[in-house]
Amino acid sequence: MNMVMDGLIIIDNKSLIQAFNPAAERIFGHRPEEAIGQNLKVLMAQPFHGEDDSYLTSYLAAADTQVTGVGQEVYGKRRDSSVFPMELGINEMEIAGERMFVAAIRDVSEHREAERHAQEDAARMLAVMNTVLDGLLTIDHEGSIQTFNPASARIFGYQPEEVIGQNVKLLMPQPDRDNHDRYLSSYLSTGTTKMIGGNREVRARHKNGSIFPIELSINEMNVVGKRLFVATARDITERKKAEQATLQYIESLSRSNQELDDFAYIASHDLKEPLRGLSNNARFLKEDFDDVIGEVGARRLARITYLCERMERLVDDLLYFSRLGRQDLAMQPTDLNLVINDIRRMMDAALEEAHAKIIIANPLPVITCDLPRMTEAFRNLITNAVKYNDKPEKCIEIGCTERDGRQIFHVRDNGIGIPAQFHKDIFRIFKRLNEEDDKVKGTGVGLTFVKKIIERHGGEIWVESEAGSGATFYFYIN
Ligand code: ADP
Repeated sequence: MNMVMDGLIIIDNKSLIQAFNPAAERIFGHRPEEAIGQNLKVLMAQPFHGEDDSYLTSYLAAADTQVTGVGQEVYGKRRDSSVFPMELGINEMEIAGERMFVAAIRDVSEHREAERHAQEDAARMLAVMNTVLDGLLTIDHEGSIQTFNPASARIFGYQPEEVIGQNVKLLMPQPDRDNHDRYLSSYLSTGTTKMIGGNREVRARHKNGSIFPIELSINEMNVVGKRLFVATARDITERKKAEQATLQYIESLSRSNQELDDFAYIASHDLKEPLRGLSNNARFLKEDFDDVIGEVGARRLARITYLCERMERLVDDLLYFSRLGRQDLAMQPTDLNLVINDIRRMMDAALEEAHAKIIIANPLPVITCDLPRMTEAFRNLITNAVKYNDKPEKCIEIGCTERDGRQIFHVRDNGIGIPAQFHKDIFRIFKRLNEEDDKVKGTGVGLTFVKKIIERHGGEIWVESEAGSGATFYFYIN
């Protein structure tokens, strides 16, 4: 009796304890010599405690006939009065001619605690299943739906009772519906499928027959030896619509950009001819009628010629701008240090005259770009950095820093700076801020070209500056 784990107690027909093994001692905290001779009631919590003995005896007798050998749960009471759940099995037997009861007792507090935890976990799981926005379904190895949460009901239009036990192909449109059994059995035999793990976009079928896109993720689990598939389904109808709308928007935007480029090209191309005619005729007029038009007339004609030339320059810029948008880029690995050195050489005299020097802050990378276009972008930024600079020693710093996994280039000067309200305007075609300053020549297209070049490379350009304290142009390309 010492070896058994269960507490064993022998009680006589008056409910008095006759034997009390070490396991019983461990469970109840009573020493055998304390327990033996006591009424069994001392070991029992309500409802037995406090009842008279006949109740207990008849309970024991009834328990024996009803549940012989089968554990039933009652509450025991320890020596320190603490109560615990126990499993109790009672057998009636005759020992030395006396009617006795053998009670086998097991303290199941830990077991109950574990069960309670498991129940809590299950309740939590259920709460999650019931409240998540994603459809959650479990499917057995034959494809039969085992659980179907409220979100699934909302997504697919079926109530759980309509689909539980049904094959999951019910939720699929053709041809997936017909192919599903084959997919599943092939997966179960080969263990290979594209469907397990990861998210994929598939089409699903609503109860009302409509087909809609879902994002589906399937994971396999082994639950008490059974293969179970857990599917998460998210209705992405709205997301798809938004994606589609964005795509259409981008497409229409790039179409209208293209149309604008084409229009600018055609218009400027066609404008050049009458413009040439205008300026030729002004010249002829001056040559043929110089003696009659007088001084004022000559001045007016000179003005016409000047304006024609100016217009021609603008038209040329427009033509060039539209060409930038129309021509394909010739992408190649390009060492930007060499690009800057080339520009230095090209602008050698101008830089010297302006007392300007170009500093490369840190060695520049090799990037994939259209070499002539990128050279032009840097040359424009450097020209501006020199042009819009009133310092006796002009300093232009070029560098590259890494930010959010992107290489950001900058061209910084110590020039006149740009007031914040013009930071967007300056990139507009023909927009100039210093028109009254005749010394600074330009047509207001340099930055527009730079922006176009950067955007053609999939990048962006912006400026940071305050009036009077220099400007820094930043850009990245893709
Ligand atoms: P342009 O130089 O022919 O006027 P841009 O498009 O290159 O045309 O520049 C537009 C305007 O932006 C300039 O007129 C000038 O006012 C301003 N700007 C450009 N670069 C700088 C700079 N580095 N510092 C200060 N102002 C600048």
